[in-house]
Parts: sequence; structure tokens; C-alpha cells
Amino acid sequence: MSTEAQIAYRNELIAAGLLHATDVDGLYAQSGAFEEIIMRFNALVTRTGAVDGPEVLRFPPGMPRGTLERSGYLRSFPQLAGTIHSFAGGDVEHAALIAALERGDDWTGGQKATGIAFTPAACYPSYTIVAKRGPLPADGALLDVQSWCFRHEPSLDPARLQLFRMREHVRVGTPQQVLEFRERWLKRGRAIMESMGVPLDIDVANDPFFGRAGRMLAANQRDQALKFELLVPITSTEKPTACLSFNYHQDHLGQAFGLRLADGTVAHTACVGFGLERIVLALLRHHGFDPKAWPDSVRHALWT
Ligand code: 5GP
Ligand code: ZN
Repeated sequence: MSTEAQIAYRNELIAAGLLHATDVDGLYAQSGAFEEIIMRFNALVTRTGAVDGPEVLRFPPGMPRGTLERSGYLRSFPQLAGTIHSFAGGDVEHAALIAALERGDDWTGGQKATGIAFTPAACYPSYTIVAKRGPLPADGALLDVQSWCFRHEPSLDPARLQLFRMREHVRVGTPQQVLEFRERWLKRGRAIMESMGVPLDIDVANDPFFGRAGRMLAANQRDQALKFELLVPITSTEKPTACLSFNYHQDHLGQAFGLRLADGTVAHTACVGFGLERIVLALLRHHGFDPKAWPDSVRHALWT
């Protein structure tokens, strides 16, 4: 359920031409001004992470369906996953499709799943790529990735999109390497967002695991402090919005994707994710819709 404040902010963004609504909730076109802020912020993340020399990977919005199946996502978040379907029939099925369209009936029944699934989190497609290279070198792997991500959660909250961009840094290695990475990015993420001049808080969090079994998974994730979020108030101070996430997957994804250390043991993984649209929405909210009028310190951090 979207709140009045969320809907009001959405309307303001649309009236200002920053977002263009479509017939589908949570699916927008973004303006040039919106895109420019994303690009500037992205460049700031690049500058911050460049000292570590990450390998850069940029993904399309889809990944192999096998990657989704292997990842465990369907076990934990079946409600959010999306697969790409396409027509796979002959002339008879084609005629039925057109007839259904013309009647205004559901024409999608004959669609078959393709080999592509939407990417739910930017780091997923990178694990198969790293695993294919064989056992990791002693210093593990460090990636700078970005993807459009899909999550099936239609909403009128402009900070809850069905298709959005996630920028991540991903670490694969020993538990020590991976935890050190997460500590480093907790500090860097805070410093980046402090330089953006927005109020923020970092807190333990859990993912929206599905169903009754999911409640236990969520409680366990919190107890072990596996996930932290950097929260910024956008349309509510009581319920601020997660703009960055810091995730330690232990050996869960290492097991799922066959990621091995040099000695053959299963690698651990962690990632830091920047929700690019949410960060732009936070900046527009706190500094106004005209980036030229933003505080000098923020402009300096972004336009250098
Ligand atoms: P997570 O995997 O932790 O759920 O998501 C990683 C990051 O992606 C979050 O910290 C957040 O910034 C962003 N994100 C998650 N869900 C949404 C969403 O529905 N819309 C948008 N715009 N960003 C999201
Ligand atoms: Zn990730």
C-alpha cells in the first residue's frame, strides 16, 4: 500500500517532468535531468572504488534462466522474480493469438519461457562468470557491476520501481577478505552519502523472504547481522528508504554457483548495492528539483 506522501511525491516528480508515468505502476521513463544525476553519482562511486582496481562488468536487464534457478532466488523470493516469455507456436497458434487480441481477450497463454530471466540483483550474473574461470586466485575477485533489475512489486511509491538500476561492488574470496570488504564499503557508503548532504542512518535489515519459512530466514539474517541498509528519509522519517545495502551471503552463493578458493573450499561472497533511482529521489527531495541550486558541497562532490 502506498502512502499519501509517496503518491504526492510521485505526482510532484511527474508534474516537474523528471519522471514520465506509464500504464504500469512502478515503470517510468526518466528525464535527461534525472539521468544526468544518475551519471554523476555513478562517476562518484567509480572514483571511490577505483583505488581497489575492480573488474568492471555491465549487464543487460536479463540473465540466463539457469542463473536464477541456481541462485536460490525462486526459493526465497518467488513473488518478485520475472521470466521472459515469447511466442513459440506455428500458424495455428499465431491465428489464435491474433483472434484473442482482436477480441480483447488474454493472448498470452501461448507464450513460452525463454532462456532469459530478468535480473533481480545486479551481482547475480557475475557469479557464473567468475565460477567459470575455475578456482580463485589468492586475492579472490573484486567486481564493479551494474544492471537494470526487475522485481514484480507494482506500487505508486516512486521509490519502489519494478525496473530500476543497481550499481554494485562485489567481493568473492575468504570469509576474512569478504568481511573486510563489507567493512570498507560500510565506511565508504556512509562517506559518499554524507557528502550528498542527506540525513542518513545505517541499520541491520532483512530481505522480504516469502512465506512462513521466510520469517525464520529473515530473523536469522537479522540475528547474524548479514544485511545492513543505509536509510534516507524520502517520503517518511519514521520509515526511511533503503538507498544502499551491504550484504554478506556467507557461502550461500559460493555453494550455489560453485565458487571455489584456490584450496578447493567454497568461497564466501559479499556485495554493496547502490539503488541509483532511490538515491536520485533522495537528492531531489532534500535539495530540490533544480540541481543548479543544490548546496555547493553536494554540487562539488558530483560535478567534479
Ligand atoms: P536489495 O537487494 O538489498 O533489496 O536491494 C539493493 C538496493 O537496490 C537497495 O538498497 C535499494 O537501494 C535498491 N532497491 C531495492 N528495491 C528497489 C525498488 O523497488 N526500487 C528502487 N528504485 N530501488 C530498489
Ligand atoms: Zn548483490
